[in-house]
Amino acid sequence: MSPAAAFGVDAGSTTCKAVAVDAAGEFLAFRLEATRPRLEEQAAALVSGLATDLGLGDLPPVVATGYGRGLVREAARRVTEITCHARGAFRALGYGGTLVDIGGQDAKAIRIGPNGRPVDFAMNDKCAAGTGRFLEHTAARLGVEVAELGGRALAASGEEPISSTCTVFAESEIISLIGRGADLDAIIRGLHRSLVGRIVAMARTVGLVPPLILSGGVALNSGVRQMMAEAAGMPVVLPPYPQLLGAYGAALLALEG
Ligand code: ADP
Repeated sequence: MSPAAAFGVDAGSTTCKAVAVDAAGEFLAFRLEATRPRLEEQAAALVSGLATDLGLGDLPPVVATGYGRGLVREAARRVTEITCHARGAFRALGYGGTLVDIGGQDAKAIRIGPNGRPVDFAMNDKCAAGTGRFLEHTAARLGVEVAELGGRALAASGEEPISSTCTVFAESEIISLIGRGADLDAIIRGLHRSLVGRIVAMARTVGLVPPLILSGGVALNSGVRQMMAEAAGMPVVLPPYPQLLGAYGAALLALEG
């Protein structure tokens, strides 16, 4: 008999997420926090807090994913982000495609087959320039909130090309553009173009089978979504709760024991 509820924890490098599902795998509740150095304690507090939110006396089964999954003591199993994201996306949407997960410090492209299983994947965890960190870093330099970036990129009337392929050099480029009086929104649009170009190139290595499904915190950025669709030449699908997709997939796996 399956449990009445199950939890998934995605201990990411930037955010730590916990998702609860009911016995049928329907999304029940979540908690999300910026990742803190004491991840073991943070994950324990996150799952007990979620259990309290739902009025559960005992902790339901937990599956952990994300780079810090080894530190989640409550987890009965630890599963890769590839498997969890594929599972979460297929359950949420009911079809496969190419899932691109852009997180704070890494990005992954996963081709999901028609049966929901991951067929191929590629990952960048070596270079900040293809991740959310690139946008966070440059947003801080420009004095703009990360959540505002996408709208400003889309509203720009021009675009400043950013040629550097490295976050540190891109920052120097931004400083000189600002020094020359370039329009801020045009710089932001150029930064998006640069990030999107790198991500789509990675996604092409797994085949880029439509539709393009976006997950991770950066999927909340409307500029990234629109420019990804243009660059890939295919529609972009945003699943519900894109930043929680890995934790949702982990919770579905926890239901299975
Ligand atoms: P991880 O799982 O790798 O820890 P997330 O998937 O939570 O990371 O993504 C974190 C990134 O999401 C941040 O680097 C930030 O750039 C981006 N992000 C978070 N919230 C928003 C938002 N509201 N709008 C745009 N980008 C966002």
